[in-house]
Amino acid sequence: MGSLDQQIAVVTGAGRGIGRAIALRFADEGADIVCVSRTEENSRKVADEVTARGRRAWAVAVDVSNPAAVNAAAESILKEPGRVDILVNNAGVTRDNLLMRMSEEEWDAVINTNLRGAFVLTKAFTRAFLKQRSGRVINIASVIGLMGNAGQANYAASKAGLIGFTKSVAREFAPRGITVNAIAPGFIETDMTSVLKDEWKTELLKKIPLNSFGQAEDIASAATFLAGPGARYITGQVLTVDGGMVM
Ligand code: NAP
Repeated sequence: MGSLDQQIAVVTGAGRGIGRAIALRFADEGADIVCVSRTEENSRKVADEVTARGRRAWAVAVDVSNPAAVNAAAESILKEPGRVDILVNNAGVTRDNLLMRMSEEEWDAVINTNLRGAFVLTKAFTRAFLKQRSGRVINIASVIGLMGNAGQANYAASKAGLIGFTKSVAREFAPRGITVNAIAPGFIETDMTSVLKDEWKTELLKKIPLNSFGQAEDIASAATFLAGPGARYITGQVLTVDGGMVM
């Protein structure tokens, strides 16, 4: 028996990195997974990995920054598999630049994927969540949304926005027993962070009390806890998973 037996989880950005780790861990805990990713190739690959673990999986290729596509995807998910117990809004991108040089396009790309994407998808499932009087929403924010970062005004705004969104929706959903929480990862080794310069990583490591970078599985552990029965009385919270960087 796993902690997520009989649950159906929708995970966005499931194709790689943190989202993939969450999808596979949830499957190991007994959940069936809808793997949402931008590319058909990656959503299919992870769905196949879920199936290989003995769980049901659906591959959904959709760009979460496209509201019409998200609404169509949500509608088809509500037909097959037919319900959603856990929604993980994890899809996210960066387009770093100093504010002086940041284009509106860079701003919009990040806000539309990281923040509006979570809004559109959560809204699309709201009626179903409220009707079934149960559910868990987990939004993957970032420590950057708590502390800011030079060169990431767009990303920090999207993640701070996601935290405000989390707390507001937590209040709206609470009367129906649905919890809404955020996880704020620190520096996690994925494709997103592999592009950063070594000197920058060396400097960053000095600021992490646990003296190592995190792994996608560390975030999957936190998400599994928030999705599971042990977190039934926790809502509107931000769980920071960052090796002690922000205290
Ligand atoms: P990643 O390795 O770059 O993977 C991002 C995933 O999101 C991919 O599966 C990608 O799809 C998907 N995605 C991106 N844009 C999308 C869109 N418009 N529509 C649908 N899917 C989209 O990133 P990661 O490091 O795992 O990060 C996952 C989340 O954690 C993000 O929200 C990120 O901001 C947050 N986070 C990461 C770190 C870190 O240190 N890595 C720290 C704090 C927060 P494809 O695979 O199909 O391309």
